[in-house]
Amino acid sequence: MMNCQQATRLLSDAQEHELSLKDRATLKFHVMMCSGCRNFGKQMGTLRDIAHSYAKGLDNDSAEQRSDDEQHK
Ligand SMILES: [Zn+2]
Repeated sequence: MMNCQQATRLLSDAQEHELSLKDRATLKFHVMMCSGCRNFGKQMGTLRDIAHSYAKGLDNDSAEQRSDDEQHK
């Protein structure tokens, strides 16, 4: 089982890029057991992303929503 240092590092990494399935599974398991990392993940908004990645699976077609940003310039 990963320790808290590894878990928080993965939580940070998840902000930058998508974690591997193995990393997400290991991280999710740690976070379920560890309230400290759970709170850390909540603050970073990462837990939702992890759960979302699970639900989303292989589907990857969110690019079209980008056009909203362009219009608000
Ligand atoms: Zn922890």
